[in-house]
Amino acid sequence: MLPYATVEAAEAALGRSLTAAETLWLNYSADKSDYLLYCHNIIFLFLVFSLFPFYYISLEFFFGKSVGPYKIQPKVNLSFSDTVRCYKSVMRMFFLVVGPLQLVSYPSIKMIGIRTSLPLPSLWEIIVQLGVYFLVEDYTNYWIHRFLHCKWGYDKIHKVHHEYTAPIGFAAPYAHWAEILILGIPSFLGPAMVPGHIITFWLWIALRQVEAIETHSGYDFPWTPTKYIPFYGGPDYHDYHHYVGGQSQSNFASVFTYCDYIYGTDKGYRYQKKVLQQLRDGLESNGEENGAFDDMSAQCRKND
Ligand SMILES: [Zn+2]
Ligand SMILES: [Zn+2]
Repeated sequence: MLPYATVEAAEAALGRSLTAAETLWLNYSADKSDYLLYCHNIIFLFLVFSLFPFYYISLEFFFGKSVGPYKIQPKVNLSFSDTVRCYKSVMRMFFLVVGPLQLVSYPSIKMIGIRTSLPLPSLWEIIVQLGVYFLVEDYTNYWIHRFLHCKWGYDKIHKVHHEYTAPIGFAAPYAHWAEILILGIPSFLGPAMVPGHIITFWLWIALRQVEAIETHSGYDFPWTPTKYIPFYGGPDYHDYHHYVGGQSQSNFASVFTYCDYIYGTDKGYRYQKKVLQQLRDGLESNGEENGAFDDMSAQCRKND
């Protein structure tokens, strides 16, 4: 809750006029408790988990022919009922684990100093903080994910997330409850190290899930803006991790590619890329069909 009830009081406290965004924020948040503002995350996550995967599923069901060339595993088609089953599982976990986790984690947010007050952060500050959050999360998630691929971690926990060898957007948060709790730690570390405004925190939680849904979408669209982010992994990168499955010792990172490169866990993926490019070049020069390429592509992945 803000310590000022009116624009005049806020301007007197700040010693300057409020920007349009700050006036909007004051009008919206002045009479809401910090706890209620923090709990907005539950609504944002519900919308992200529901709407963004729905976009990909709609493309698949209604524009299948147009987006077909960008499907990473074109021979795998999940039925409508399987897709609904996946969404129902995610929602069950959302209401039993994700939502309650948000409700009880409020004291930690207060402790690290996430603020709701004025002034609002500048766009530049938001971008830099989000960059730090993504880098910290990516590095921590890499090691936790790698640990989850040891025999115990995989059999007891991580196997659930790998049920989808050809992932879809809805399968991004599809995981064992323990994995959801454990992977909350990397998401929390960045804001704990560089605490910011609650708006930055909302953006961080939502964007991290948007990113996860994109990388699990099963489609590698050339027009996605994330293609312009340096060292960004993307859907093809993480799809390979799911395709190889439980034995996978490749592509552990959640967002970027540099961890796998530094620690040598992208060798299988890079080898596959190189071989597939050679196959593609060879088939194109022989004028053969794409189907032959798909068969060889699948064979190549199996050899990882
Ligand atoms: Zn994994
Ligand atoms: Zn995954």
